[in-house]
Amino acid sequence: MGSKNLKFNTKTIHGGQQPDAAYGAVMPPIYQTSTYAQTTPGGHKGYEYSRSANPTRTALEKSLASIEGGEFGLAFGSGLAAIDAVLKLLAPGDEVISTNDLYGGSYRIFKKIFEKFGIVFHFVGMQGTDAVRDKINTKTKLIWVETPTNPMMNIVDIKAIASLTKGEDILLAVDNTFATPYLQLPLELGADIVMHSATKYLGGHSDTVVGALIVKDQELADKLYFIQNASGAVCGPMDSFLVLRGIKTLHVRMQRHCENGRVIAEYLKSNPKVEKVYWPGFEDHPNHHIAKEQMKDFGGMISFVPKGGNYDDAIKIVERLQVFTLAESLGGVESLAGHPASMTHASIPKEVRLKNGVVDSLIRLSIGIEDVDDLISDLEQAIK
Ligand SMILES: *Cc1c(COP(=O)(O)O)cnc(C)c1O
Repeated sequence: MGSKNLKFNTKTIHGGQQPDAAYGAVMPPIYQTSTYAQTTPGGHKGYEYSRSANPTRTALEKSLASIEGGEFGLAFGSGLAAIDAVLKLLAPGDEVISTNDLYGGSYRIFKKIFEKFGIVFHFVGMQGTDAVRDKINTKTKLIWVETPTNPMMNIVDIKAIASLTKGEDILLAVDNTFATPYLQLPLELGADIVMHSATKYLGGHSDTVVGALIVKDQELADKLYFIQNASGAVCGPMDSFLVLRGIKTLHVRMQRHCENGRVIAEYLKSNPKVEKVYWPGFEDHPNHHIAKEQMKDFGGMISFVPKGGNYDDAIKIVERLQVFTLAESLGGVESLAGHPASMTHASIPKEVRLKNGVVDSLIRLSIGIEDVDDLISDLEQAIK
């Protein structure tokens, strides 16, 4: 059966997958091996060394390509290893335009690692296309988009940004970690590369760290595969298996993340002790119309600012939470709370952070799939 024509909820389970050739195992075995027997030099069954390829990783890579509507998937040892591989497509003097409100680790690898090698980064607001258009010149080789953004939940119009790269030698990469392919398909909207921290929703169970890239174009896939093999930041067979298993329930988990997210966003908005709530599902969210157009629903990530709160008040709230776990990361079945200023976004200079709205009292929630009443009671007691 051609898996291209399957619906998303079937692709998560069957996309790119076949029962294992050896014994018909329904789940791909964890091929925990570094090397493969050869009958004569070069005489092998498609695998010779597990940095270059491993059957469990191949199964994950095919699944990733299927669910994102791409042709090729590549799995890495972490989301940042996947970003690292994309940046290695560039050469000194090349310029990158990135969303200004982005994952702290992405900002850090851009500024602290790749700037040193002569790559120039511009960070701009992408709520409209003007700021991007202003920065594009002949040296621009990559546009890096996160949407919804972390942690401000800004929405970037992927199709509109893609239209700026048409006919130009500029790649558009979208970090699809927050939305997942259940909510939005960047390749369909004109992106060249989709990137994931599969550590988050794709894995979904907070039990592994994995990264992914998905592309449509063969030549681009070949270049990325060369980098993946040459630099070697691959993910192991056990981690590949865990993400593959996670993907099989992605659609049901995401549906519940979205349902719970909606109820909690509305609860927080109606709470007089809360000053501001950031969630793209609100009609008064500045780019709600774009979110409605390019996303199927609004996801389970919410940020809020307690009324009149400062740094210490936010810390007290996150410490008081009992069902929500205070932790880095997001996208697992359990609800997590984080304090960006001291956690995920601590590597971003304070003035840059404040300019982007990440104030000291901002709290970020990853809404899990527990009973939503318990989540609300927990927030109620912590905010009070
Ligand atoms: C976590 C995260 C990353 C980095 O991924 P790792 O798997 O932690 O290396 C990149 N982008 C976003 C949006 C993330 O949330």
